[in-house]
Amino acid sequence: MKIQEIIAGQKTFFKTHKTKNIKFRKMYLEKLKELIIQNEELLYRAIESDFGKSRFDTFTTEISFVLKDIDYYLKNLKTLSKPKKVSTNLANQIGKSKIHQEPLGCILVIGAWNYPYQLSLSPLVAALAAGNCCILKPSEIAGNTMNVMSKIINENFPSEYIYVYKGGIDETTDLLRLKFDKIFFTGSTKVGKIIYKAAAEHLTPVTLELGGKSPAIVTKDANLEVAAKRIVWGKFLNAGQTCVAPDYLLVEESVQEQFLEMLRKYIKEFKYEPNSDQYTRIINQKNFQRLIQLINKEKIYFGGNYNEENFYIEPTILTAVNWEDNVMQEEIFGPILPVISFTNFNQILLSITDLEKPLAAYLFTDNLEEKEAFTQKLSFGGGCINDVVMHLSNDNLPFGGVGNSGIGNYHGRYGFETFSHQKSILEKVTWGEPNIKYPPYSDKKLSWIKKLL
Ligand code: NAD
Repeated sequence: MKIQEIIAGQKTFFKTHKTKNIKFRKMYLEKLKELIIQNEELLYRAIESDFGKSRFDTFTTEISFVLKDIDYYLKNLKTLSKPKKVSTNLANQIGKSKIHQEPLGCILVIGAWNYPYQLSLSPLVAALAAGNCCILKPSEIAGNTMNVMSKIINENFPSEYIYVYKGGIDETTDLLRLKFDKIFFTGSTKVGKIIYKAAAEHLTPVTLELGGKSPAIVTKDANLEVAAKRIVWGKFLNAGQTCVAPDYLLVEESVQEQFLEMLRKYIKEFKYEPNSDQYTRIINQKNFQRLIQLINKEKIYFGGNYNEENFYIEPTILTAVNWEDNVMQEEIFGPILPVISFTNFNQILLSITDLEKPLAAYLFTDNLEEKEAFTQKLSFGGGCINDVVMHLSNDNLPFGGVGNSGIGNYHGRYGFETFSHQKSILEKVTWGEPNIKYPPYSDKKLSWIKKLL
């Protein structure tokens, strides 16, 4: 069947209102959960062959994530879907006001390759929970994970409800000519602009989950040992191919030497070695080449080794980096950590604000004023104080960017709202109608209106 026919089928199916039924939504969410559990082995193998991701990482950062999302919606669906009563203003008495969460219709989810299950299935789960039909277009760059998702979903779900459409740039370009009720995109800022333009043609709302250069700042008032351990984990997880990984490090000069030693210690302790089956590889030749060009040999403090045969790049720390260096011009998206030292905390915040707004930012300190300045003066999607990456695992926090790092957000109730229209309904009684708002007008009516409004 052609994709146009599948989308038409989804639009027809949506009009039957079956997806609005809570039991229907729960039944399919439970089915998806079962299928993920049954096919766990297949999911591990596909991602391992795409870029050597370990079972541990796949479970903790992908599978458990999606399962947790499904459980969240199974548990909260009734409450989330309930119309929310709000107060009614004087001019609308006697009446009552409610906000209804209305599903949008047929959603297009476009995924990225770096967390291929989580970034495809989590938005899909939120879209279904909110009562929509969905076309999922995973990233073709992680081809095996795309195939496994297509197999699991297309063999087990009716295409008029959910369908995985496989393809790359050409297929996505074709898809974007069609009219959807919402496009949810995860990927680069560059492609995000293409999606936004295409969506504008149909006035389709978008959520754009993009990237950016996310800083981590370590001041002399930080618990350095904890900071080093957490930064090494968050930076080299998935070999740095994480949208919210600390992209570069800003360290207060007086503690830099000591801190670099700690980073070195943890990199060694975590055993990110060439033959390790626990350290992810770079996704492809193009990214491998791009990354090794960023390693300025004269600035290597640690690492710098790589192996083109299996796309291994050793965790690498570059020091004496300045803002003009190549490595500071765009999102790194790999296991290279440039370090810039600073002496003035407020000045370094200003330097960050000269760049585009990042998806995440991190601060390590126990100093209250620094925490306050970081939260109040820097604009970024979301982040942590004294940790990295973990904010996105809290369902109660909306996850998304700002400015160049994205539009909109999801996770937990925010995901549900992202895929819903908040429809306002004011219901009035039909008795006791005051004549005051109706013509013919008079000075007396105006003076009453002035008092009332
Ligand atoms: P990408 O923008 O190259 O690709 C994303 C998707 O867009 C893929 O499905 C791809 O097929 C499609 N695509 C690519 N070129 C296209 C074109 N010209 N027209 C239409 N569709 C096109 O991104 P990527 O390489 O998969 O992922 C890396 C980027 O994504 C990084 O910038 C990273 O920070 C960002 N990212 C953001 C998040 C987030 O949650 N905010 C999560 C993961 C990755």
